[in-house]
Amino acid sequence: MQTEVKGFMTGQPVSIEAESSALEALDLMIDHAIRHLPVVGPDRRLRGILSFDDLRAALPTPLSLRIPLAVEERWRVADITVGEVMTYAPVTIRHDAPLQEAATRMIEGRFGCLPVVDEDGRLDGILSETDLLHALATVLWAEHERSAPAPQTETLLRDLEREQDHLVQQLTHYEHLEQERTATRREIPLDLAEQGQGAEEGYLTEQLAELASRRLRAIEHALERAREGRRETCERCGGRISPRRIRALPGSTLCIRCSREAEAVR
Ligand SMILES: [Zn+2]
Repeated sequence: MQTEVKGFMTGQPVSIEAESSALEALDLMIDHAIRHLPVVGPDRRLRGILSFDDLRAALPTPLSLRIPLAVEERWRVADITVGEVMTYAPVTIRHDAPLQEAATRMIEGRFGCLPVVDEDGRLDGILSETDLLHALATVLWAEHERSAPAPQTETLLRDLEREQDHLVQQLTHYEHLEQERTATRREIPLDLAEQGQGAEEGYLTEQLAELASRRLRAIEHALERAREGRRETCERCGGRISPRRIRALPGSTLCIRCSREAEAVR
């Protein structure tokens, strides 16, 4: 994300010289549909800025940015030069300055644009309100793209980690049961019926433990893939695995289509 002035300024802007007539400046603004003209001297050093509002305030006739001045009005303003009506030594910005600095200067000074100059004061570009709006739109869209999928992934990871914790506890519990049973068997001789019941319980616990540890391995694998940014990538086709599928089967490494194909082969 480019957030320096140069990423959004207009380079090589149309400019004018202080000795030119204000009328010429007006025609340039109309031709290029712009409201500001940087005023440069020799070597393109910035001397001032001329805005359409400056012209409107200074010229003794109503002006429009859409319609050139009528012929009968032109002679009345022909003698006025740019230097007479421009703003001298305007506030400027460097092309490598952060965009927010430019925005702050424009807001505080109520400027419609900022001329961009190099270290020697030569005109580099111009940054207008429209350019700032463009920058804002770009930043907001980038933020939107970044934040939209994030909560989904985070929620999923949190759910998986919670289940992981739960499974670890469960497995520990099964282990304890198994240890207790072994210990009890050693201490108290059981009758045959009790032994049978114990064996059955033991078998069930074993099955549950096996299921839990299989699920735990799947979740660990899914978490590992998620942390490497591969959670949503199908291992076979490189396509996307839907979050819903991952939630239902956290160990999923294949997209729905590939897993159907794999099952069909089996
Ligand atoms: Zn696939």
